Amino acid sequence: MTESEILEIFKKSGALLTGHYLLTSGRHSDKYFQCAKVLQYPDYNEMLCSIIANHFKNYRIDTVIAPAIGGLVVGQEVARQLNKKFIFAEREDKNLLLRRGFSLADGERVLICEDVVTTGGSVFEVIDIVKKNNAEIIGVGFIVDRSNGKVNFGFPQRSTLKMDVVSYLPGECPLCKQGIELVKPGSRKIKV
Ligand SMILES: [Zn+2]
Repeated sequence: MTESEILEIFKKSGALLTGHYLLTSGRHSDKYFQCAKVLQYPDYNEMLCSIIANHFKNYRIDTVIAPAIGGLVVGQEVARQLNKKFIFAEREDKNLLLRRGFSLADGERVLICEDVVTTGGSVFEVIDIVKKNNAEIIGVGFIVDRSNGKVNFGFPQRSTLKMDVVSYLPGECPLCKQGIELVKPGSRKIKV
């Protein structure tokens, strides 16, 4: 798949909107992005995850791990395509933990998956969990890199789409100056 074909999937599913948006931070942006909107379609999820699975198919991997909640559908689908075990880490009192009897053995070879990475906080937490269990990190695969390629996990990594997050303080917003109507995502004014 080419980058423009990938971008088209995000636009068609309503995961990526262009216009003039009020973000939850209070800043304004010409883009609004919600990854779950593309991953809600199993065929799109399968297509996007195949980019990650194909990238890592020649690495020796025992287990795919993801942080809940965003990483679940991605980790599960990548694991399905690679026919490997899938486990996840979930938050308890702010910390990501392995629960439900999930464990990692000494030397277990692990691929970490996530949906969206901005600063990579959850992925770095999962890296710590894998290291603490003396397992081995083979790589990190994620759907969207919102750092536009700046984030570096120190292992082989592959995203399906790199995005620049440009936002403005309300007083400095060029879209406001052009008089374009400001839309709050989730309101009925949004046209997909
Ligand atoms: Zn504005």
